[in-house]
Amino acid sequence: MMNLLDYNREDLGQFFTEWGEKPFRATQVLKWVHQLGITDFDQMTNLSKTLRQRLQTETSLTIPQIVTEQISVDGTRKWVLELADGNRIEMVFIPEDDRNTLCISSQVGCALDCSFCSTAQQGFSRNLTVGEIIGQLWLAEHHLRSQDIYATDVQQRAISNVVLMGMGEPLANFKNVVKAMNLMRDDFSYGLSWRRITLSTAGIVPAMERLKQECPVNLAVSLHAPTDELRNELVPINKKYPIAELLEACCDYIKNENRRKITFEYVMLQDFNDSPKQAQQLAKLLRNVPAKINLIPFNPFPNSPYQRSSQARINTFRDILINAGLITVTRKTRGDDIDAACGQLVGRVFNKRQGHTKPITMQPRIMG
Ligand code: SAH
Repeated sequence: MMNLLDYNREDLGQFFTEWGEKPFRATQVLKWVHQLGITDFDQMTNLSKTLRQRLQTETSLTIPQIVTEQISVDGTRKWVLELADGNRIEMVFIPEDDRNTLCISSQVGCALDCSFCSTAQQGFSRNLTVGEIIGQLWLAEHHLRSQDIYATDVQQRAISNVVLMGMGEPLANFKNVVKAMNLMRDDFSYGLSWRRITLSTAGIVPAMERLKQECPVNLAVSLHAPTDELRNELVPINKKYPIAELLEACCDYIKNENRRKITFEYVMLQDFNDSPKQAQQLAKLLRNVPAKINLIPFNPFPNSPYQRSSQARINTFRDILINAGLITVTRKTRGDDIDAACGQLVGRVFNKRQGHTKPITMQPRIMG
C-alpha cells in the first residue's frame, strides 16, 4: 500500500488530481499530517467523508516505531526506531540554549566504511525511504510537543534545526533525501529554512553539484585528514574523490552565495591526525576555502582502533588553525553516556553485504 509519508507537496498534488480531487487537497493533507501530527484520516475534517474513506482503504501513513528512548544527563535524547521491515535506526535530539537540533539517519547502515565510525562496522543494508526520513522528524516533533518541549527560538515548534549526520551517507541516497528535505522546507509541513538544515557528507563530489542545483542546504564535509594518503585510510571514498576535487566542489557549492561557508568536520584521533604539523597542513589546504572547522573529539565504540586526542592536543591543534585565520570550534560531545555522540549510532542492520542478519543488542540505559 502506498505510504503518503513518501509524498511531498508536488507528489500529493498529482496524486489527488489523478483521483479527480482538487490539487489543494495536497496542502490540506500536508498540514494535517506534518503540522498537526494527525495520522487518522477520520480526523481530517476538511476532507469529504468519501475521500477520507478512500484514503483509509487505499493508502497508509506509516511511521517508524520508537523502540527505546534514552535521555542523557545533558538532556540529549537518543531514540532507536524500528522500520516496517525490522531494521533499526537511531536518531538523536540535542537541546541547546538557542536551538533544538534533531540528528537524523539517511540509510540503514553505511557502505562507506570509514575506519573510525561505528555505523560502518554494521555494513550497509538499504536506503531509507522518504517516509522513513521525514518520519524521523515527524516522530521527534510530535513526541516532544506532546511533552511540551519547544525550541526557544521558534514558536510552537520542538525542532528548530535538522542535521543529516546520523547513520548513513545522505548523498548516496540522493533522491529520497532531497525529497525529504523539500518537505522539511515546505511551509505547509515544517517550514524550516535551508539555513536550519545541514547535510553532512563524506564527499560524494558529483552529488554535491546536484545538491547545489536541487536543494542548496548547508553543507558539512567530513574531511578528517590533510593529505590524501591519510584520508584514503580514514575515509576510503577519498580514493574515488580525492581532496583537491572535493575542495573544488566545496568552493563551487558556495560560489556566488554571500556569507556562506562550508563546515569541515575533523575527528580528533590521538597520534593519528592531530599533530601540530597536520594542523599546519590543514590550514594551508583550507586557506582559500570559505571554511568553518569543527573539531570532533573521537567517540570510542567497542573494538575501535583509535583513541580520543587529549584535550591539550586538541587545543594546540585548534590554536594553530585559529592563528592561521580559520574559524575553528571544538564540537561539544553530547550524550556520550547514552552512546548518542557522533559516530556511535548503530541501530540494527540486516546486512546485505555479509549475507546474514547481524542484530546489535542495545542496552538501554534510561536516565534523567
Ligand atoms: N556519512 C556522512 C554523515 C555522517 S555524519 C558523513 O560522513 O559526513 C557523522 C559525523 O561524525 C561525520 O563527520 C563523521 O565522520 C563523524 N564521526 C564518525 N565516527 C565518529 C567517531 N567515532 N567519533 C567522532 N566523530 C565521528
